[in-house]
Amino acid sequence: MTLNADTRGAEPPPVYEGKAKRVKSRADGLVELEYKDDATAFNGQRRDRFAGKGRLNSEISELLFAYLAAHGVPSHARGRLDERTLLAEQAQIVPLEVVVRFQVAGSLRKRTGLADGTLCDPPIVEFYYKRDDLGDPLLNPEHIRMLQLATPAELQELESLARRAAGLLRELCARAELQLFDLKFEFGRTAHGLVLADEISPDTCRFRDARSGESLDKDVFREGSGELLRGYRIVHERLRAASSGPSTQGEDSLPGTRR
Ligand code: C5P
Repeated sequence: MTLNADTRGAEPPPVYEGKAKRVKSRADGLVELEYKDDATAFNGQRRDRFAGKGRLNSEISELLFAYLAAHGVPSHARGRLDERTLLAEQAQIVPLEVVVRFQVAGSLRKRTGLADGTLCDPPIVEFYYKRDDLGDPLLNPEHIRMLQLATPAELQELESLARRAAGLLRELCARAELQLFDLKFEFGRTAHGLVLADEISPDTCRFRDARSGESLDKDVFREGSGELLRGYRIVHERLRAASSGPSTQGEDSLPGTRR
């Protein structure tokens, strides 16, 4: 999604078109989130369309939101309208992308020179400003306070919800023979507090095959290295199987203690 800093405090527009989703507000207080087949990378500089990506991402997001809700992390998801459209609770999107990293890849590899796959122990949480015009820059808590993007209490809760959700997903992925390297969350403010929003999919997570190390996510598009949706289908099938099996839920299985 989605709504950026310019919409803070304002009523969301009836229809909003983002890079990956179309968001339509409804009179009943829900929004329709249509997941598009478009793929963009490098702040919109690379673009393409992949028939079926919207449906896969909506199904993976629905599955992961339901899994997290069942384990005590609330989200905006409220069911499905059609094969590529989820219903969600209306929320005011916090203009921050919250990234949790278990293993080094992507921009952290570039920023630090550490080898791809290096374990982040404990996991690292980062905040990025949702501003395409600025290139979504990395912010620290003092910048966030100065820009009034979130209160100190909200920031603490964002970090703790992100760590908890990411830990649960890392554990689920391990059961699905996937390595969750990192992922990005967005959050919304609702009448009953902060909830996970947007999507959780191979567009927003780095999934590697636990045996071969193969990328099964948007890195395939970023690097132009193969057939994008093949990986998305594998992730969907494995997560579906793993999420319906027994869980070893608990704080013990949280932050990055396993590869
Ligand atoms: O590019 P970087 O390494 O910072 O990305 C960290 C994680 O956040 C990756 O899983 C990536 O897919 C996700 N991300 C995202 N949307 C962005 C930037 C990063 O979903 N605008």
